[in-house]
Amino acid sequence: MAGERAALPIIVAGGGIGGLAAALGLAQKGLDVVVLEKAPQLGEIGAGIQLGPNAFHAFDYLGVGAAARAMAVYIDRLRLMDALTAQEIAHVELGDAFRARFGNPYAVVHRGDLHRVLLTACREHPRISLRVSSEVMAYDQDGTSVSVRLASGDTMSGAALIGADGLWSNVRKQVIGDGPPRVSGHTTYRSVIPTERMAEDLRWNAATLWAGPKCHLVHYPLSGWKMFNLVITCHNDAPEPVAGRPVAREAVMKGFAHVHERARRIIDLGTDWKLWVLCDREPTENWVDGRVALLGDAAHPMLQYMAQGACMAMEDAVCLSHMVAAHPARIDDALAAYCSRRVLRTTRVQLLSRQMGEHVYHPAGAHAQLRNAVMRAKTQDEWYDVLQWLYGGNGLNEKNFA
Ligand SMILES: Cc1cc2nc3c(=O)[nH]c(=O)nc-3n(C[C@H](O)[C@H](O)[C@H](O)COP(=O)(O)OP(=O)(O)OC[C@H]3O[C@@H](n4cnc5c(N)ncnc54)[C@H](O)[C@@H]3O)c2cc1C
Repeated sequence: MAGERAALPIIVAGGGIGGLAAALGLAQKGLDVVVLEKAPQLGEIGAGIQLGPNAFHAFDYLGVGAAARAMAVYIDRLRLMDALTAQEIAHVELGDAFRARFGNPYAVVHRGDLHRVLLTACREHPRISLRVSSEVMAYDQDGTSVSVRLASGDTMSGAALIGADGLWSNVRKQVIGDGPPRVSGHTTYRSVIPTERMAEDLRWNAATLWAGPKCHLVHYPLSGWKMFNLVITCHNDAPEPVAGRPVAREAVMKGFAHVHERARRIIDLGTDWKLWVLCDREPTENWVDGRVALLGDAAHPMLQYMAQGACMAMEDAVCLSHMVAAHPARIDDALAAYCSRRVLRTTRVQLLSRQMGEHVYHPAGAHAQLRNAVMRAKTQDEWYDVLQWLYGGNGLNEKNFA
């Protein structure tokens, strides 16, 4: 394996958050890595993302902890509002007690800033090369190497292939072949606005969620408080997958006519709304085929309701690189060990994300009143106990998934 590794790089398909994190982790274990990205440029969409303490454990492992901490906004609380009454239902404090409990903060960041931190570290690493306009279409493998075929017709050989090519992964088609993703019927609209445009009485230092029947709204500050991220979702049974289509404000408003005027006003604040119809997949037990493994959304795409898709992708990168270093003689054993360590934890997040949509984000009537009663009754310590399995994880201790 040592000689094999010296000759052939690990190929990573996809230069998103997961692919770049994987490249960094593997390079830091002394492996050469080539990242093949389909798009003509490496980048991320202009929107926000929430990062639990588990993401910061991963940043530290990947050697970008300081840079990641520098771009984050540290919010004081996660706040759940009732979108019909505009009353707070519950909140989770994210101050000193939270940080002491989980060893790291909770933060919100601009996706572009997060991607840039990983990209800069990859560009600076002598073992990583990055190629754009390089869509991976398919792979072949024998006992010693993997060969990938690109859309251009070119081929490239590697010691292994990591499919970090997202929700519509070509690599997954071959590893698992389980058809297209499941369309959830939930439509999400996103906008990022300058802070001065945000209503003054809503400029909370919190990730705020307004939960209403079949709809919800989320907002939080970004990029040193220069902007606010607005993400609003309605369960309108949309039948087709959509990603990033521009949409008029009047069309956005349609799913929110029934919520409190204070919540509805948030939609008026948005500009340049874009629409996604969300997809996920059923969890699967195996994401590995010999020298080929999936990572991030390619492996376990989830609805965003636990705010954990990118966090899980970075945990995957930590675990993958750790396992590759721990199995220096056999990459296939390393990939199998990686998958078996990750699968229950990511399955739990995939399934819970759906349940959060049903029982917390979108219920109505008595179901919503039960949510309010149950969530209101919890103390801060009880919230921390509930979140321990998730925020106490770091990509390596997944045996403690429960
Ligand atoms: C509305 C919304 C809100 C979210 N909020 C959060 C949050 O708060 N916290 C959180 O942790 N997660 C959140 N997520 C989830 C998170 O965005 C994803 O889980 C994460 O971006 C997945 O990263 P990835 O690198 O696996 O995939 P992607 O980001 O999809 O990256 C895949 C990359 O591969 C490239 N590619 C695709 N096909 C090929 C190919 N065949 N060959 C080469 N390259 C290819 C793509 O161009 C892309 O660059 C949210 C998601 C949504 C939709």
